[in-house]
Amino acid sequence: MRVMTMTQTVLIIGAGQAGARAAQALRTYGFEGRIVLVGDERHAPYERPPLSKDVLIAQDDGDCFKGWVHAAGLYDDARIEWLNDRVLRLDTQSHVATLEEGGELRYDHCLLTTGGRARRLLDVPEGPHTFYLRTLDDAMRLRARLATAQSAAVIGGGFLGLEFAVSARTRGLAVSVFESASTLLSRALPPLFSERLRIKHEAQGVRFAFDAKQMRVREHATGVQVLTENFDLCVVAIGQEPNDGIARAAGIATNNGIIVDRHCRTSAPDVYAAGDCANFPYGANDRATRLESWQNAQEQAIVAARNIVGDTTAYAPTPWFWTDQYDWNIQMLGMPDGAVDRWIERAGADGKTVLMGLRNGVIVHVLAINQGGELRAIRRLVEEAVTVDAGMLADPTIKLRQLDKLTRSTHSGDQGVLV
Ligand SMILES: Cc1cc2nc3c(=O)[nH]c(=O)nc-3n(C[C@H](O)[C@H](O)[C@H](O)COP(=O)(O)OP(=O)(O)OC[C@H]3O[C@@H](n4cnc5c(N)ncnc54)[C@H](O)[C@@H]3O)c2cc1C
Repeated sequence: MRVMTMTQTVLIIGAGQAGARAAQALRTYGFEGRIVLVGDERHAPYERPPLSKDVLIAQDDGDCFKGWVHAAGLYDDARIEWLNDRVLRLDTQSHVATLEEGGELRYDHCLLTTGGRARRLLDVPEGPHTFYLRTLDDAMRLRARLATAQSAAVIGGGFLGLEFAVSARTRGLAVSVFESASTLLSRALPPLFSERLRIKHEAQGVRFAFDAKQMRVREHATGVQVLTENFDLCVVAIGQEPNDGIARAAGIATNNGIIVDRHCRTSAPDVYAAGDCANFPYGANDRATRLESWQNAQEQAIVAARNIVGDTTAYAPTPWFWTDQYDWNIQMLGMPDGAVDRWIERAGADGKTVLMGLRNGVIVHVLAINQGGELRAIRRLVEEAVTVDAGMLADPTIKLRQLDKLTRSTHSGDQGVLV
């Protein structure tokens, strides 16, 4: 283990979920020196999942956001210096970061947790009726506009756009979703499930326009025109881009994010990266992967902190993601990389279901609706790539929580339900 002294400084650039978690983890794993957490948002570090959900539908303005990463007192208690400023430049040779407000910070180790920003639709700036949704300020602005709106257009039928559609419908707005593909979430969901999600939204009154590739959005005095229709507001949710600019300008290798190894190390000495901005080697083939999820921000940040203190740890996640769509809590485990050769479903009452995607007899992707406990029951089988018996997987008399044990001891006939 590397010896770190009281006199060393770890500089964390980006005070979002990953940055704040890493700062705390540095203390947990024994770092005694100075921790400086620099963030260009005026708020203390917060988590973003509530921004498209609770913040937009909460009744009470004063109490609509509760997503702070840490209790306010933690920063002082853990001696974490949280600084509201923007890092403009990083000099990786001299180990110095330049701040927008004019100062410089010297570091021994630097962690980049700069996250991402909403991808812009060409020619469509933010306006009084046109919104992008990434920050707490974005969400509060959108919340204020929702209060008087009756209709909303959503450009992009990804998770974020659909979560906004749920919130807008919950508030009684008429909602139209414009999606450039011919189905919803075709890269993240199996076709059968994507169809169910569309039907769920349509049953709640959402209207879809698929294959909507050439979008035109024009603000006018009272609202916004999308193609030929008028709406009170429009939310553009067409994905995210990594904030890797300061890394690239510093000569650090980037490609769809800041390239790191399994120990979160970048190509520059003593510089690490984690969270939405990091592109890391994933799986047996070291596939370059960038994840945009709460779990990744949390776990990769902790792994980065451990490596900074010299506690050599590899980041090898089993990706997990959730989204809330009306009364469905949808959880996903594993990587939806299209290589599934068979789906097996265990459907329960009231729309509850667990859909398991297998490749060569190994569960590589699980999708659960209101069945988070069942998903957790087979987590180890996914993590350890255990070959499972499809007959057992499909057999409703065998509980999924028994499957782990049985799979390791028995093999019965192959009679899975193909869906
Ligand atoms: C609306 C919304 C809903 C979501 N819902 C879910 C969900 O339901 N489930 C799920 O798993 N995930 C969800 N996510 C994704 C999840 O929130 C992100 O993956 C996570 O926030 C990433 O954390 P991060 O710390 O890497 O980046 P961020 O949270 O983006 O934090 C990075 C911070 O660094 C700052 N920064 C950037 N450059 C500089 C600089 N040069 N100097 C100083 N500061 C800088 C940024 O302003 C930002 O504050 C959602 C995301 C959004 C936007």
